[in-house]
Amino acid sequence: MQTSIQSAKIQTLKYYTNADLQVDVLRLDEIHPIVSGNKWFKLQYYLADAIQKNKSEIASFGGAYSNHIVALAFACQSLNLKCTGFIRGEKSTTPSATLIAAANYGMNLQYVNRTDYNNKEALISLHEHPNRYWITEGGYGVLGAQGASKILEQLPTNNYTHILCSVGSGTMAAGIVNATTEHQQVIGISSLKNNADLEEQVLNLVLNHKKNAFTLLHQYHFGGYAKHPAELITFMKEFYNKTFIPTDIVYTSKLFFAMDNLIKENYFGSQTKLLVIHCGGLQGNLSLPKGILPF
Ligand SMILES: *Cc1c(COP(=O)(O)O)cnc(C)c1O
Repeated sequence: MQTSIQSAKIQTLKYYTNADLQVDVLRLDEIHPIVSGNKWFKLQYYLADAIQKNKSEIASFGGAYSNHIVALAFACQSLNLKCTGFIRGEKSTTPSATLIAAANYGMNLQYVNRTDYNNKEALISLHEHPNRYWITEGGYGVLGAQGASKILEQLPTNNYTHILCSVGSGTMAAGIVNATTEHQQVIGISSLKNNADLEEQVLNLVLNHKKNAFTLLHQYHFGGYAKHPAELITFMKEFYNKTFIPTDIVYTSKLFFAMDNLIKENYFGSQTKLLVIHCGGLQGNLSLPKGILPF
């Protein structure tokens, strides 16, 4: 397995770029074949905090296709920290590729039934240990947003007028908003349905003077988290044929669909320079039957 993280490149989408609009993509999906971009960034400050507090083990939570779990397993291996992943649901006789990779990186997997999984406080108190450092599901929190701020620092990004990114817990979006310069606007595309608190969840992690730089759009969730109707799969194939960019069914397909739609509706004014954050995370596609997608 590839053991190091590469720095991300920017790709211009010629298909969408014209005299009034430049569309570029930050390819965080290419930094590692398994460890997805955004999760890796969100973990950095938690892990530094754990080391500073002399913790020898990290624990967190996730499902069988969790990008967060596999990124945590990889990061802990590279820092020589022990780690435990509390996994939602019963152990399967055919574990997902995500969980196999996490175990190969040395993560101790503990399966938890769905009822117990949903009560994190009880779960944590049951497995509390003085050497153990807990990270929230998906890395939500101030330190997660601080890590996500580093996403924009990898390359010169000050020229962009708009930044488009997907939103799950909102940690990445918050970090990106905090890292923007004055003239930049961040538009978040929610992957969740009916999550009225999501905007507040993002803004709770955003610096006061940056709160006006964020807009959340709710109309591109395609039925909810990980829902992938045929229309979305068709879009993923067409988008790949135009751009050679693979997307996932949970986040980035909805992100690029939104981008395509917003451009068609002339959402952006003239002289727009748009940066779309492709934050990796193709693990969700492993839940699809083989052969559905061309990548
Ligand atoms: C986890 C993830 C997100 C959501 O990030 P949040 O910080 O939870 O909003 C978006 N896209 C991909 C590919 C992810 O793996």
